[in-house]
Amino acid sequence: MARRKKVYEGKAKVLFEGPEPGTLVQYFKDDASAFNNTKRGIITGKGVLNNRISEYIMTRLNDVGVPTHFVRRLNMREQLIKELEIIPVEVVVRNVSAGSISTRLGIPEGTPLPRSIVEYRYKSAELGNPMVSEEHITAFGWANTQDLDDMLALALRINDVLSGLFFGVGIRLVDFRLEFGRLYLDEEMQIVVADEISPDNCRLWDMDTGEKMDKDRFRHDLGRVEEGYQEVARRLGILPESGPRDLKGPKVMQ
Ligand code: UDP
Repeated sequence: MARRKKVYEGKAKVLFEGPEPGTLVQYFKDDASAFNNTKRGIITGKGVLNNRISEYIMTRLNDVGVPTHFVRRLNMREQLIKELEIIPVEVVVRNVSAGSISTRLGIPEGTPLPRSIVEYRYKSAELGNPMVSEEHITAFGWANTQDLDDMLALALRINDVLSGLFFGVGIRLVDFRLEFGRLYLDEEMQIVVADEISPDNCRLWDMDTGEKMDKDRFRHDLGRVEEGYQEVARRLGILPESGPRDLKGPKVMQ
């Protein structure tokens, strides 16, 4: 890694100052954590795969007019991103019951939900990212109603785009978590997708077998964790072995 100023270090990524004002370099580590950081480990090669997978997804979103912070991938583990003012609210979109909604509401894992359900969490590791309502978000000033309207519309649009993208390669998008930030352009402010979109923050199940291909393999010690991430990359046609100039489109499943 070149010597440069570290701006922030999280559990799975490091942010460095970027080459120009208003940019950052996002470095993907192999470190994994779960259950509010009480379980930790290393998933060898995860950073390389998530850098690729997130690049692919953010590029597809940019292609359909969903604004994201992604500018371009720089190398195996780094991407250039736009610096945002991060909104301390995580947005979870669910299509099928799994994880905390199954536990909280007693809905068996794998039950399709009557419609896509959106949840908000206050982004605070110390508090364990508690679920909050729009009331909390606007009352405490984390985001205003216009920000929330934009975040909700983008989250549902992203759910449609990603559900279709993964469906095309035989993967069910069970749920995922998004982060947003504010991008200031002269007088204008735009709500933009931040962070990463990868098997670290999505639940991805094989359409036919139901096999998990995401961080649940690590959370619940299911084994073959790297293989799960690799399989997602392989189906999207972006395994790093294919080389940076050799990006293929998704492999269509019959
Ligand atoms: N998620 C995440 N970070 C978190 C908590 C959840 O990326 O701190 C993702 C998780 O991978 C899943 C979705 O958000 O795709 C919904 O997670 P859930 O509420 O079921 O929580 P979990 O079971 O992961 O604790």
